[in-house]
Amino acid sequence: MVAPNVKRDLRRAYELMRARFGHRHWWPGETAFEVCLGAILTQNTAWTNVERAIANLKAARVLEAKKLFALPESKLAELIHSAGYFNVKARRLRSFLRVLVEDFDGDLRRLFAGGTAAVRARLLAINGIGPETADSMLLYAGGHSSFVIDAYTKRIFQRHHWSRKAEARGWQTEVGNSMASDYGKLKTLCESRLNQKTGAARLDYWQDYHAQLVMVGKHFCRARAPLCEQCPLKPLLPKN
Ligand code: SF4
Repeated sequence: MVAPNVKRDLRRAYELMRARFGHRHWWPGETAFEVCLGAILTQNTAWTNVERAIANLKAARVLEAKKLFALPESKLAELIHSAGYFNVKARRLRSFLRVLVEDFDGDLRRLFAGGTAAVRARLLAINGIGPETADSMLLYAGGHSSFVIDAYTKRIFQRHHWSRKAEARGWQTEVGNSMASDYGKLKTLCESRLNQKTGAARLDYWQDYHAQLVMVGKHFCRARAPLCEQCPLKPLLPKN
């Protein structure tokens, strides 16, 4: 098998996806607060269901941290019913809102203030917020360059042997024990190979990179019967 050059391939992948889809201007959400709610509500459900839940919150005029936190959990669950797992998600939303309101006076800018690692740890300490949710909030609501890994990313990387090659090069040693989960390994791989930009340019690049992977995952790289012939990443498929 011809081993891929991961850094070159990952950078080329973005060019190919961007040429096909254009800049995605992601994440869908009018405000940073909506993005945070969406990141929790989208766990295990399609985005269209999340949109309905957020529309309900808007119609009830409670799309604001303190108002939402003041709602009884049962009422919140009722309003987000369309997002599925509504009792669990209502509890998770309230856990997030409790920290936001009680520790940061409902001010997202204060919640996101500080270095990326510290803010990430702050989010991960909240019940119901895992790495993907935390990174989505950081990247799309908090202005922190923190690469998001999702199921599409994992599938695409596996099919292109990008994670395998990186593992052969010993990149696990770059990760450190605290990030040594599969999620952490892929995240470190992406952040270390896609590090050619800095500041706002890096933020935009990583925001758009994840959005492009979602497009490929949704429309081409299906779990069964991937549509490689039409996919923009076909030129980067392993040769054998
Ligand atoms: S659909 Fe095929 S070419 Fe596209 S990302 Fe998946 S495996 Fe690669």
